[in-house]
Amino acid sequence: MSNDFTVRFGFDATPVRGRLLRLENTWQAMSARQETGGGGAAVGLLADLAVAAGLLGQDLKVAGSLSIQLHAGRHDAQITTAMAECRGRAEIRGIVRGDPATSGDHDLAALFSGGRLAITLMPEEGAPYQGRIELGRGNLARHLEDYFVRSEQLPTRIFLARDQHRAAGLMLQRVPDAIGAADDDDDWRRLTLLAQTLRPAELLTLAPPVLLQRLYSQDRVRLHAPEPLAFGCTCTRERSANALSLMSGEEVAAILDALGAIDVTCEFCGANYRFDAVDAHAAVLAGHSASTESEGTIH
Ligand SMILES: [Zn+2]
Repeated sequence: MSNDFTVRFGFDATPVRGRLLRLENTWQAMSARQETGGGGAAVGLLADLAVAAGLLGQDLKVAGSLSIQLHAGRHDAQITTAMAECRGRAEIRGIVRGDPATSGDHDLAALFSGGRLAITLMPEEGAPYQGRIELGRGNLARHLEDYFVRSEQLPTRIFLARDQHRAAGLMLQRVPDAIGAADDDDDWRRLTLLAQTLRPAELLTLAPPVLLQRLYSQDRVRLHAPEPLAFGCTCTRERSANALSLMSGEEVAAILDALGAIDVTCEFCGANYRFDAVDAHAAVLAGHSASTESEGTIH
């Protein structure tokens, strides 16, 4: 069985919902593409972002995507940009750019020299929605918990773990319509305290029924069927052309003179799109009249 899945669970007579998520092939496909290499805080953060995007992306009510982006406060930040996206509740991709030597510090404000976190819901039809918070002390999980309380008044706990091979997460949320009852507070406190006892190795490796039985042996847990996840990229030749359109005609001509063609490589999946002189000039002209969404590195 694939070790890339998410699974929902609930508790009988307790207004708390939960979700587990684990990425193995997906995470390996993502981390292999990163220039930051296999270690360091930047790659760890990418794992956390991928899991978090997968967890949050499951609650999309309409077809579309959810992304979590982290933007640096200064150009010389240790990590300049990081994002992960979950599309159609099934496909995940992500990227991180920063100093490969960055290690240890999971305080987001330190890694990004200030900066902000944005969560963007991009429906296939209709207007996008974006919520933002400033980066402060604490790791990604603490920031997302803060986001849920502030923007959705939804008490949330998120636990994230990763090793070289896998990334995983557990999310607990107190269901909205039950907030306020004293009993619910007790249950919420008890269930989240138990979740804190979960070790990273357990979150990364145990089968969901075993994991939940170990955590909540006193509770009746309703476990739903797991849903598969996979690495997936949405890059197209058209969007790569948009990257060219950000360049001047002179810059494009200079590269064509030197190389004969221009290659644009997708930063997410490594796909290569080659533009000959005719295509490249057409892309530059088209870009000056269109709004652009570009992704890719030109070389
Ligand atoms: Zn791609």
